[in-house]
Amino acid sequence: MPSSSNTQHTIPMDEMSHFYYYKPYPAGRNFPFRIIFSNGTTLQAEAQHHQTDETGDHLYNITAEKPPLHLCLPRESAHQLILSTDNPDIEPNNEQLEASQQVVDLIDEAITARASDIHMRPMQQYVEVRYRIDGVLEPNKKLSLHHYPAIVSRIKILGNMDIAEQRHPQGGAHHFSYQGRKVDLRISSMPVLEGESIVIRILDPQSGLRALSDIGFLSRDEACFREMLQQKSGLILVTGPTGSGKSTTLYAAMRELRQRDVNIISLEDPVEYQLDRIRQIEINEAAGSTFANNLRHVLRHDPDVILIGEIRDHETARIALQSAYTGHLVLSTLHTGDAPSAIPRLLDMGVEPYTLKDTLLGVLSQRLIRKSCTQCHGASELVSHCNHCNQSGYHGRIPLYELMQVSSEMMSHVHDGITAEEVRQLAVTEGMVPMTQYGAALLEQQATTQQELKIDEPE
Ligand SMILES: [Zn+2]
Repeated sequence: MPSSSNTQHTIPMDEMSHFYYYKPYPAGRNFPFRIIFSNGTTLQAEAQHHQTDETGDHLYNITAEKPPLHLCLPRESAHQLILSTDNPDIEPNNEQLEASQQVVDLIDEAITARASDIHMRPMQQYVEVRYRIDGVLEPNKKLSLHHYPAIVSRIKILGNMDIAEQRHPQGGAHHFSYQGRKVDLRISSMPVLEGESIVIRILDPQSGLRALSDIGFLSRDEACFREMLQQKSGLILVTGPTGSGKSTTLYAAMRELRQRDVNIISLEDPVEYQLDRIRQIEINEAAGSTFANNLRHVLRHDPDVILIGEIRDHETARIALQSAYTGHLVLSTLHTGDAPSAIPRLLDMGVEPYTLKDTLLGVLSQRLIRKSCTQCHGASELVSHCNHCNQSGYHGRIPLYELMQVSSEMMSHVHDGITAEEVRQLAVTEGMVPMTQYGAALLEQQATTQQELKIDEPE
């Protein structure tokens, strides 16, 4: 731990219950700081850059009404905040430092395990920590209730949340540095009977931002989807339940589209990954910022391509279709269980059949299923020794999907009151491979299991 020769007094650690800093803290520059004392008083302060030591770590002094305290903020990892002092009478708050390290280790381990979420749930005897891996929530470890409050505080500090607030749900975000790259964390805390429940969503660009060719579509479908993306105007829909990989597909599509010289504007709820060269707008319906009212502004911003996070009401559906009809390429999602249902769903939302006929290019319906482990193939005699899949028999996920390409011939049969089944028959006549048939093919290739095909039945 680097020390610094400073003769000024130091705030005793035991007087201080919490500290937290404001993000982003630019290394080597001053930043605002807040200290909360165990008696409940809060001190607004400023961390002033003091020096950079031989290892590149920055030392800061914190000045407030009270005398300064030394702080060492390592150059790259904002999550490792180490308090140091050269006053031998002052002991660092070990519990807090331990909690800090425990949180970092936990997040690190979750990212390594390819988890998309970390769940921490206080129970009567202990705190259960679970990781969601390949869509499945699995128990990972138990923490003692005794250390949990310090861990929750540490997580809230990371998320720039109010650590004193324990009675109301809160949300926060943090850029975590993992093996030299940035992984975004979305943190949510919620009071439950036994204490505070924490869920950390891990937005790892390495798994969430993929190329279209890395998602797992058959090459003929990938080519067909790409052809739709090359159109100057029209509507492309991706459908499926929550967690079916719709946004991964749409992000892949946007990354493909931005290679062209076009103006792309996206409306997302929330923005999961930031993409260069795309104007991304975050929708916040609770604050009155809806897809529909943002869309009106977006159209004045001369877009070529518009991504609408989700069509869930008449007004959004109407503007989306109108935009596609007037020369924009529109990408969006709908909450339907299969591709053909998208057409009756939009008509139910009050969309004019003629705008739909002239604009809809295609519908991709997907969900994600777990891929059989390529090492043990889930064989009962091998799976219990297989480290590749953590003894689960599965590793990674692939899309189970159907891609409905829309032709003018097909659309000439679309009318108000058409059923999903009638659309399905037309689509199959034109070559759509239904999801069930594709699933059977995956099963035959032993790419997945019967059990995976059963989950997520279409609504
Ligand atoms: Zn395995």
